[in-house]
Amino acid sequence: MNLAQRDRQVIWHPYTHQKGMLDPIPIIKGDGVYLIDEQGNKYIDAISSWWVNLHGHAHPYIAEKIYEQATTLEQVIFAGFTHEPAVKLAERLLPLLPGNFSKIFYSDNGSTAVEVGIKMALQYWSNLGESGVGSQEFGVKTQPRNKVLALNNSYHGDTFGAMSVSDRGVFTLAFQDKLFEVIFIDAFTAPNSELPTPDLSQVACFIYEPLLQGAGSMSIYEAAWLEAMLEKCKEQKVICIADEVMTGFGRTGKLFASEYCETKPDIICLSKGLTGGTIALGVTACTEKIYNAFVSDDKLKTFFHGHSFTANPLACTAALASLDLLQKTSCDQQRELISKMNSRFLAQLTTHFLPTGQAGSLLTKNHRQLGTILAFEIDNGKDGYLNTISSQITQIALSKGVYLRPLGNTLYIMPPYCISEEQLQKVYDVVEEILEEL
Ligand SMILES: *Cc1c(COP(=O)(O)O)cnc(C)c1O
Repeated sequence: MNLAQRDRQVIWHPYTHQKGMLDPIPIIKGDGVYLIDEQGNKYIDAISSWWVNLHGHAHPYIAEKIYEQATTLEQVIFAGFTHEPAVKLAERLLPLLPGNFSKIFYSDNGSTAVEVGIKMALQYWSNLGESGVGSQEFGVKTQPRNKVLALNNSYHGDTFGAMSVSDRGVFTLAFQDKLFEVIFIDAFTAPNSELPTPDLSQVACFIYEPLLQGAGSMSIYEAAWLEAMLEKCKEQKVICIADEVMTGFGRTGKLFASEYCETKPDIICLSKGLTGGTIALGVTACTEKIYNAFVSDDKLKTFFHGHSFTANPLACTAALASLDLLQKTSCDQQRELISKMNSRFLAQLTTHFLPTGQAGSLLTKNHRQLGTILAFEIDNGKDGYLNTISSQITQIALSKGVYLRPLGNTLYIMPPYCISEEQLQKVYDVVEEILEEL
């Protein structure tokens, strides 16, 4: 049996319709932007392997650092013990983060980073209640706030808390009645939109993906709308949780998408690009005010949360190595190059593939871009994740040496930053060929 057949015997793949699924492609090597299969076929990884990879696959510098750490200290319990990579990473991250953060809490991935953020916010209010630390701050004895505000079309992960604050759609349908109650509002995609005005007095926290809703079809909404919303939340003492699991580490043209707004979050969740996409790691950072609500003589005010591999030294080391690469001027220049090429390509697409474009090819709509990320819809069938054009596009793109995985009929490009001009041009060429041929 070959590897694909052995896989079919024992593996269940994520987000994969099992019936009629195609054999998975065995990848034997990663090299820069390329994924290389058993036959030696090379594919440009145009979606950064589910949005995680920043500097290319099997990066020798990150690999070297991980190796050194693995032969020094691979893992240690993180309660009662600490280690250099965890402390150093926190020391380096805190001044880079968009806001006045003072503590880093480690976990395992994006979903857990979100769970931690929501739990911190809810327990903050619970700790403040009654005789809580700083309850005088609010003058009156109030009911702890317990409502959560989130955005329609959002995606925050696949664990129950993360699903609860995510859009109630195809991903969460089977669990609908087990998810906790959340107030959902629309993020506005047009300027000068009216702010929704839900009653915020009982709201503990507002969680949002700043500007770009990734799994929600890469939709982009107005920074001005978010700014107004954040100001309103701050006025009403609502804790603002920025989920930058996808937008963090330079994807959107700023180091963090929260930098597009003046009002900064109280909690931020990071993962994906954190380790350059090499090892799973989650970070939830919070402000001093939130942390202080957990500092008490009352042991019940402890944050009872942790994972076996919290602050794994290998993962922290990979994150430090990735930061070294990310902070090089050459990496800034690469991200600028990608942004520029993206706008040029979109302008070109606009002339060819809008409804007034050439006959015979597929039409596109809603062209959009934020920094290194570009997206548009293919005007074919019903908009949404279940649109089957996605798997057709993946197949054709692979046959042309590019890996794309559209979200339904939303085609997007999110390359590793190390992609060269020629390689990115090849991705664009393949996209155009697909639009012409399909
Ligand atoms: C991917 C993603 C998550 C979940 O991260 P995992 O590591 O896949 O659990 C959470 N929030 C956002 C915005 C994401 O894009």
